[in-house]
Amino acid sequence: MAEPVEPEYGGERLVTSSADDVERAAEAALRPKKLDEFVGQRVVRDQLSLVLQAALARDASPDHVLLSGPPGLGKTTLAMIIAAELGTSLRVTSGPAIQHAGDLAAVLSSLEEGEVLFIDEIHRLARPAEELLYVAMEDFRVDVVVGKGAGASAIPLALPPFTVVGATTRSGLLPAPLRDRFGFTGHLDFYDAAELERVITRSAGLMGVDIQHAAAHEIAGRSRGTPRIANRLLRRVRDWAQVRGDGRLDLKAARAALEVYEVDPIGLDRLDRAVLAAVCRRFGGGPVGLSTLAMTVGEEPDTVETVAEPYLVREGLLGRTPRGRVATQAAWEHLGLEPPPGAWGAPLGGTLFDGADGDAGTPQ
Ligand code: ADP
Repeated sequence: MAEPVEPEYGGERLVTSSADDVERAAEAALRPKKLDEFVGQRVVRDQLSLVLQAALARDASPDHVLLSGPPGLGKTTLAMIIAAELGTSLRVTSGPAIQHAGDLAAVLSSLEEGEVLFIDEIHRLARPAEELLYVAMEDFRVDVVVGKGAGASAIPLALPPFTVVGATTRSGLLPAPLRDRFGFTGHLDFYDAAELERVITRSAGLMGVDIQHAAAHEIAGRSRGTPRIANRLLRRVRDWAQVRGDGRLDLKAARAALEVYEVDPIGLDRLDRAVLAAVCRRFGGGPVGLSTLAMTVGEEPDTVETVAEPYLVREGLLGRTPRGRVATQAAWEHLGLEPPPGAWGAPLGGTLFDGADGDAGTPQ
């Protein structure tokens, strides 16, 4: 077995786009409450604003809304904004929280007229719950099953009008019949640096601290296009400024704090860099299979594939070929290394394929 080329990654990741409960509490204070406070996503914001204004003008519930996009880009925030803009309350549940169709029936039958039901990770609903949801969304009805076996019967229960806001990171996994029930679908994209700077400056204001433009710019560049990460890095910079600095959120504080947390200038953390370094140093730029690569950095293949790889691929640092993972020219440059002649990342190294699986060895 190959030795890890970098110390094994063991800590909490600062640049992950998922959040735990403690973080969600910290986030709550930073969430925009109105559509015009929501930074970026101009197209979705504009379309949604029309849907909401039209519903308000008609004094009716708007169409069901599906929001898709990677974690941390603002789907939950938009669901809250939709309810607030409509002047109604929001009920929150999620695909994994609903174990049985009956759980969903209970939620649906307790909805009040005009309420918004937010279903996070809606692609993870179990099939029977999904089927119950189609009917509820289309006909505003749930069939409550009474009795068991041959004697069971379904009693239709009418529901008041309501709006489902579904969020998914994997819209491709949503069955077509469910997708079709949504009158409006908004796709959220990664934010550009200028938008993230606005998110950071706004959040700093809410946290009661002044941030220099250069510091906001620095944090934005390391936030992987994701407001959740931007807010998290901002909190760490504030900690540094308080404990080791003079309280000011300036460029020096931003750089020093992010160095402590090992988030590099393009937002890579230790695991990301370990993966790149392994491909370049240990495997001459690849191709290397996922499981070998994972073993080399001392991680599970699943972690490498779902945690580190997507951003490395998105940034054009790592390629996926039918024969395994390869480092690109940009990866060599980022690590300050010279690719050996004939390496994948070297000029004229070869063609990269995206989306191939790696270990299988079957050309596409
Ligand atoms: P998701 O539901 O897509 O995982 P969230 O809505 O929970 O993401 O957003 C994560 C964090 O990022 C929240 O604290 C929220 O305040 C912040 N955020 C997301 N999008 C924006 C935005 N467009 N403007 C300002 N803050 C945002």
